[in-house]
Amino acid sequence: MNSIALDILALAAHRDDVEQTCGGTLLKMAERGYRTGILDLTKGEMGTRGTAEDRAREAEDAARILKVSWRQALDIPDGRVENTWENRLKVARVIRELRPRVLILPYWQGRHPDHYTASILGYEASFLAGLAKLDVGHPQSAANHQDELAKLPPHRPFKIIYASLYHDVRPTFVVDITDQFEGRFASLMAYKSQFSDQHAGSGIFPAQTEIRARVEAMARFYGMLGGVTYAEPFVQKEVGLVDDLLAIPVKSI
Ligand SMILES: [Zn+2]
Repeated sequence: MNSIALDILALAAHRDDVEQTCGGTLLKMAERGYRTGILDLTKGEMGTRGTAEDRAREAEDAARILKVSWRQALDIPDGRVENTWENRLKVARVIRELRPRVLILPYWQGRHPDHYTASILGYEASFLAGLAKLDVGHPQSAANHQDELAKLPPHRPFKIIYASLYHDVRPTFVVDITDQFEGRFASLMAYKSQFSDQHAGSGIFPAQTEIRARVEAMARFYGMLGGVTYAEPFVQKEVGLVDDLLAIPVKSI
């Protein structure tokens, strides 16, 4: 992991979360020439289907489909994402290393504790990453760890937005992914150990045609809110800033 500056970093608890909540947006931004990345907090060892190694390979395939420049998984235990000092430092270190301008976090409420904890953890780690006096370690590329100059300089993302697809909340904006929908779906299907039709866990996991129908229904719903075919929902805590009233998108009546 050399110091490669990213424009956009998406953080999530589990491999395949990003593909489900904001994969189309990441693909769209990559197609616009932005450098994007994905940080998965866990390696997925608790999943009913497949091993952590299967999921690592699948995550790489999905990353290629979404055209991300960087993807890595931390070693936080799956099903036990906790907002500890140690975990905040791990994430802060990645933020300093990658220096994203935009950080996409999971929405801060939801059914799965790993998801909402990842949200708070990501926010607090972003705050820590900007504290000049806090030492979060050296870049992995630095040969001499005693070298003061090699220390990672402070950095905070300019913008934090929350991918809200997992939770029933009204988004503050949606991103049109009509042209990226098929790519996003393909990135999700790259997780063959999770989503291909098979016997293990068939009581929990819907068949592939059912998944396609659900993913499409959600994307269409948020697309409808934005007046486009398919979209992904986001929440931002700040107000929107408008310069030109005639350029505000989405029809009112
Ligand atoms: Zn998840």
